[in-house]
Amino acid sequence: MDLLEYQGKQLFAEHGVPVPEGRHATTAKEARDAAEELGYPVVIKAQVQIGGRGKAGGIKLANDADEAEAHAKAILGMDIRGLTVHEIWVERASDIGAEYYAAVVFDRSAKKPLLMLSAAGGMDIEAVAEDKIARLHVDPLVGLRAEEANRLASDSGIDPDVSEPVAAMLAKLYDLFVATDSMLVEVNPLIVTGDRQVVALDAKVTVDDNALFRQPKVAEMRNPSAEDPQEQMAKERGVTYVKLDGEVGILGNGAGLVMSTLDVIAQAGGRPANFLDVGGGAKAEEIVAALEVLLSDPKVKAVLFNIFGGITRCDEVARGILQALEQIDVRVPIVVRLDGTNDKEGRQILADADAPQLHTAKTMLEAADMVVALAREGAAA
Ligand code: GDP
Ligand code: MN
Repeated sequence: MDLLEYQGKQLFAEHGVPVPEGRHATTAKEARDAAEELGYPVVIKAQVQIGGRGKAGGIKLANDADEAEAHAKAILGMDIRGLTVHEIWVERASDIGAEYYAAVVFDRSAKKPLLMLSAAGGMDIEAVAEDKIARLHVDPLVGLRAEEANRLASDSGIDPDVSEPVAAMLAKLYDLFVATDSMLVEVNPLIVTGDRQVVALDAKVTVDDNALFRQPKVAEMRNPSAEDPQEQMAKERGVTYVKLDGEVGILGNGAGLVMSTLDVIAQAGGRPANFLDVGGGAKAEEIVAALEVLLSDPKVKAVLFNIFGGITRCDEVARGILQALEQIDVRVPIVVRLDGTNDKEGRQILADADAPQLHTAKTMLEAADMVVALAREGAAA
């Protein structure tokens, strides 16, 4: 679960990481009142779960109440790379001397938290040269030792005058990372102010979804309006769904089968639009829920149902698909590949049905070729 900047900063403040004082607002009037309370200059910041807000015009400086209100009005409702701004954060403006980058991420391959620190902050970290980022793996059983944090600070090439407070901030960020079951805690920029204070000016926190049951305070921060609409819909309906970039919608029963389906789609020259596992589900309502999530993505031009019948019987799945089609209006072609228990019966049920958008296939590769061709026709139409 990704937190908004102001939610991350709330956690920072609770863990002793210095952040500028600020207020949350959802209307221009609230932003004006917040600015009056804080004192000028203030910065009005769009709260969306995406970086690059500054470049997109989602961060603006205001010197008086009228300016604060006008900026808030312009930012609320703004579209930032596909996300609409519904919330803003009004913050005391900072006097920036230097901008650094700091992060704690979970490094899956090393199975350890990884600390990163760079003197090249304030920009897209992907654009920073590898050798400009100092790295340190932390042994989770030992924790971060003070001398390690100090060494990372000196390796990173930041101003030695502030390496002590920066190392102290890293220690607090690491504690926060562990205490909140996070997968990522990123501060970009971490700034040194004109009067040499070290402050977190931005906050990006991703908490492990699997730990939310024991992070009730974080779970309460869930903000449906800021999430991707398909992923939000999937969560509400209990569907395992990951959105991807392509145009071929995929539904399969079982995560392994769905993963290999992604590969065959690529092999057939197409691009998967998503990963969707219906599990053992064959019931019409489960298929309706999955199809609705999938088809709410306008990029989807054709759908591949890939079912391997084991305990789940293919004839039941076929009936479920037909019932689902009665309930929802499907305008894109659907290729159904049924193999395994009762597959012949299943294909026969689909062939007998009066459903012009349905196509059937026996093998995965045949189905992939068909669906990729249909998606191409759909995209060209
Ligand atoms: P992002 O673009 O979404 O990553 O948003 P950030 O919160 O990182 O802000 C982007 C940039 O805006 C920062 O790197 C700063 O250069 C600038 N900025 C943000 N807040 C302030 C502030 O209080 N004072 C000044 N002078 N610049 C700010
Ligand atoms: Mn940033």
